[in-house]
Amino acid sequence: PAHPPQDVDVIVVGGGPAGSTVAAAVALHGHRVLLVEKETFPRYQIGESLLPSTVHGVCRILGVEDEMARAGFKPKRGGTFRWGRNRDPWQFSFALSPRLADPTSFAYQVERSRFDAILLDNARRVGVDVREGCRVTGVLADEERVRGVRWTGPDGEIREARARYVVDASGNGSRIHPHVGGKRIHSDFFRNIAVFGYFAGGARLPAPNDGNIFCAAFDEGWIWYIPLRDDLTSVGAVVARDNAEAVQGDPATAWRRLIDACPEIRDLLDGVPQATEAPYDQVRVRKDWSYWKSQLWRPGMALVGDAACFVDPVLSSGVHLATYGGLLAARSLNGCLAGTLDEDRLFAEFEARYRHEYSLFHEFLVSFYDMHQDERSYFWKARKVTHIGTTELEAFVELVGGLASGDASLTGAGPAGERLTAVADDFERAVRRLPDADDLRNPLYESQTFRQVFQEGTVLQERGLFGGPLEDEAPQRPGGLVASEDGLSWVEP
Ligand code: FAD
Repeated sequence: PAHPPQDVDVIVVGGGPAGSTVAAAVALHGHRVLLVEKETFPRYQIGESLLPSTVHGVCRILGVEDEMARAGFKPKRGGTFRWGRNRDPWQFSFALSPRLADPTSFAYQVERSRFDAILLDNARRVGVDVREGCRVTGVLADEERVRGVRWTGPDGEIREARARYVVDASGNGSRIHPHVGGKRIHSDFFRNIAVFGYFAGGARLPAPNDGNIFCAAFDEGWIWYIPLRDDLTSVGAVVARDNAEAVQGDPATAWRRLIDACPEIRDLLDGVPQATEAPYDQVRVRKDWSYWKSQLWRPGMALVGDAACFVDPVLSSGVHLATYGGLLAARSLNGCLAGTLDEDRLFAEFEARYRHEYSLFHEFLVSFYDMHQDERSYFWKARKVTHIGTTELEAFVELVGGLASGDASLTGAGPAGERLTAVADDFERAVRRLPDADDLRNPLYESQTFRQVFQEGTVLQERGLFGGPLEDEAPQRPGGLVASEDGLSWVEP
C-alpha cells in the first residue's frame, strides 16, 4: 500500500483536554504516541469554567502551569449561586478558609480554543506525533484485543496505524466508543438541553468574586454566566429536554427569551451587545450529554473524557473528569508499556478510580438539583431525588457497584434513593450555614458530601504543588494500587 501502517505504542483519538493529557503523560515516560485530531486547532468547544485540580494538579504535572498563568485567563475563586431556598445569591469558594488564601484555591475561566491549544501544543512539545485535520473512522481489532485505527488524512486517503493501545478521547460525538462496553447508559434525571452564546461585556460581581461563575436558577431551569474577559461573557441556559423543538428551531430567539425570563442574569446584561467576533458570534445548542458506560476499557483500548462519560455542566466537572481520566489512563498505559504490572490489574485501577470519581460528582449533582425549591416549576419539581426513576437508580447502583470492592456507603446503606436524600440534606444544611460563616472557615467543607467531591482533586493539587501527596496515599480499595512518585504510573502501595 501507498502508506505502510504506522506502528506506535499508543494512539490517542482526539486532541481535547482528555486526549492531550493522556498523550503527553505517556510521552513523558518516553513512549511513542500518535494523536489524531479531526479539526485544525484552535477550534471552538464549550466547557469554559475549570476546577483547581485541573489547573494546579494536571497542568502542573504536564508542565504547562506557568504557561497557563501567563495566558491571562480570568482567575476563578469559586462559584456564586442563586439557587436553593434563599433568594439571595451565596458563594462557594475553593478556599478552605476564605481569609487565608492558599495558592491553589483558584481556577480559571478559559476560552477553550486557547486552553485546548496550550495542552495540545504541550503534547507535541513533549514528543507526541500530533496530526491535525485527520479523522479516525474505525478501529482495528481481533477477538483478543484492539490493535489500531483506520484514519483519513486531509488528502482523504485511508490509512491504518497499529499500536499496543488505542485511547478514545474523541468526546461526546465519539464514533468508536461502542468498541468498549457497547452503548452508553443515558441518565433521565439530567436529560436537559443547553442553548448558549456570548455577550461583548456584561456587569461583574463585586470583587473578589468578579471571576466567579454565576449560576442562577429560574422557573424553566438555570443559566450560567461566565466572565471570560472584560469584554466577553459566556451565557448559557439549561432547560428541560422537552424544549428541544423550540430551542433547536431558533436557538438565538430561545436564548434571548430565556435570559429575559431570569431577572438576575438579565440585569447583568442590560444594554450589553451580543458578541460579534468569531467564534463567539453564534448561538449554539447541546443535548444528550449525561451518560456513562458499563465498561471503560478492554484489552488494547480505553475510553477517557466525554467519550467515556459526563454528568452535567452545573459544577464545572467536565474538564476535571476529562483530564483526571486522561491521567488515570496514562498511569495504566505507562505501567503496561514498561511491563511493571499486569494489564488487568493496571486497567482495573484506572476503571475503579474513574468510576468512583464520576459517581461522586453524579451523586453530588443530583443533590444539588434537589436543593432548589420551586413548587410551581415543572423543571424543578421533576428534579427532586424522589423523582428519580427506579431504572435510573438501579443503573446508578450498578455503576458504583461495578467497582471491584463495591462502595459500601452507597450499596450498603439501604436503598440508593434514601442515600441520595441523605446526601442532599447534608449539603443543604451546609449551604444554610453560609450566612453565619465567619471568614476563617468555609462551612461547605463541614459537609461530608462536599469534601468527598473535592477530595481527589485536592490530592491532585498537592501532587502538583509538592511533587506528591502530603500524607501517604492509601489504595482506594483492597488490593488497589497507588500513584508513583512522579504521578504518571501505578505502583504497589
Ligand atoms: P472534547 O473537548 O470534545 O475533545 C474531543 C476532540 O476529539 C475534539 O477536538 C474533536 O474534534 C476530536 N474528534 C472527534 N471525533 C474525532 C475523530 N473521529 N477523529 C479524530 N478526532 C476526533 N466542563 C467544564 O469543565 N466546565 C464547564 O463550565 C462546562 N460547561 C459545559 C456546558 C455544556 C452545555 C456542556 C454540554 C458541557 C460542558 N462542560 C463543561 C463539559 C466539557 O465540555 C467536556 O467535558 C470537555 O470538553 C471534555 O473534553 P474531552 O477532551 O473529553 O472532549
